[in-house]
Amino acid sequence: MSKVLIIGAGGVGRVVTHKCAQAKDVFTAITLASRTRSKCDAIAAEILHFPINTAQVDADQVPELVDLILQEKPQLVLNVALPYQDLSIMEACLKTGVDYLDTANYEPPETAKFEYSWQWAYQDRFREKGLMALLGSGFDPGVTNVYTALAAKKYLDEVQEIDIIDANAGSHGQPFATNFNPEINIREVTAPCRHWENGRWVETPALATRRSFDFPEGIGPMNIYRMYHEEMESLVKHIPTIKKAQFWMTFSDNYLKHLEVLQNVGMTRIDEVEYQGQKIVPLQFLKAVLPDPGSLGPLTKGRTCIGVIARGLKDGQRKQVYIYNICDHEACYKEVNSQAISYTTGVPAVVGAMMMLTGKWRGAGVFNMEQFDPEPFLETLAAMGLATEVLDGGEWPEL
Ligand code: NDP
Repeated sequence: MSKVLIIGAGGVGRVVTHKCAQAKDVFTAITLASRTRSKCDAIAAEILHFPINTAQVDADQVPELVDLILQEKPQLVLNVALPYQDLSIMEACLKTGVDYLDTANYEPPETAKFEYSWQWAYQDRFREKGLMALLGSGFDPGVTNVYTALAAKKYLDEVQEIDIIDANAGSHGQPFATNFNPEINIREVTAPCRHWENGRWVETPALATRRSFDFPEGIGPMNIYRMYHEEMESLVKHIPTIKKAQFWMTFSDNYLKHLEVLQNVGMTRIDEVEYQGQKIVPLQFLKAVLPDPGSLGPLTKGRTCIGVIARGLKDGQRKQVYIYNICDHEACYKEVNSQAISYTTGVPAVVGAMMMLTGKWRGAGVFNMEQFDPEPFLETLAAMGLATEVLDGGEWPEL
C-alpha cells in the first residue's frame, strides 16, 4: 500500500497526478492538495479510472500541512507547489514522520537566489528520524543529474566537464508566455549567470554568453544562452572530478525582446511597490496578466530536447558522450492535457517517487538524484514515457 500526497495543482501537479494514477501497481491511493481546491477538483475530474481525493492547504503554514498529513497518512509527500514552500513542507514531513520529494530547490521569496544550503541543512534531522528527502526530481534538475551519474557509471572513467543543454524547440504562438510558473521562470532567467570552472563559481551577467548548438534528430541549430541552474551545485559536490560545469537554455529572440522591455520598465522587480495605497510586487502582478502556463497545452507544438554532454577520460583517452531525451508537446497534451515542459518535470517526479516507494532508491537523510544508481531510474522513466538517447563517443565543439 503506497499512499501519496501531492501538493500543488499547477501544470506539473496535473502531470504528476495523471502519471501516479497510471502506475496503479505502486500508487494505491492519491490525494491532491493545493491552495485552490477547485484546481485539484478539475484535475481529479480528468482522471476517470482512479479516484483522486482532493484537499485545500496553504503550504506556507506548517500546522495546516501537519493536520493534512495526519489526516491523509501518506507514505510520501510529493511537493510540486512552488520553491517557496519547500522548507515548510520538509518541516511538516519531519513532524509527521513522512518521506519528502520535490522538483526545485528552495528560494526565499524576497531574494532571487536559489541554492541547496537551506535544504541540505535538514540532512541530520531527516537522517536521525530515518526519513528520506529526495531533492530536485524533475528534468533539470533531476534527469540531468541522473544522466551525469550514468555518464560517470557507464561511459567515462572520470567526468571532467559537463554542458547541460535545455532546448524548447516548440512554439505556443503567444506573443510572450512562460512554459512554467512565470514568477519562478523570470526570477531564474534574470538572475546573474554562474558556472563552475576549476573549483570555483564564475559569475557573468545574465544571458550574456550565447552559442549556437546543433540539436539532434532533425531539431537543428538553435541559439543557447548560459545561465545558472541548481543541479550544477549538487553535481560538482557529489562528482568532484567535474572541473567545469555549464548550463545552457534556448530562448527565442521574441522571448528575449519582451523580457528586456519588461526588465527595463521594472515589471520583473521582486520588491514591493506602492500602487493606489496597496503594496504590490511587480513580478507577481505580471504573472497575473500573463497566460497561465497550463493554458498553453493545446497551443504548443514541436519538441523539447534536454540533455547532458559529458566529457572526460575513458581508458586514458579523452571522450565525449551526449545523453538526452526528446519529448513532443502535442503527444504530451494528448496523453495528460499538458505541454512537454510540465510533462518532462512531472514524469521524473513520479519516477523518483516510485524509486523511493519500491525501495530501489533508499536512504535516511537528504539526497540529490546523482547519489543513487541511475539505471533503474532511467529504465522506469522510459517505461513511463521519457526515453533516454545516448550518442557515445561523438565530437561536439567545446561550448
Ligand atoms: P504552477 O504555478 O503552474 O503551479 C504551482 C501550484 O502550487 C499551483 O497550483 C499553486 O496554487 C500551488 N501553490 C502555490 N503556493 C501555494 C501554497 N502556499 N500552498 C499550496 N499550494 C500553493 O507551477 P508549475 O506547475 O509550473 O511548477 C511547479 C514546480 O515545478 C515549481 O516549483 C517549479 O519550479 C518546478 N519546476 C521544476 C522543473 C524541473 O525540471 N526540475 C521544471 C519546471 C518547473 P494556486 O493555483 O492557488 O496558485
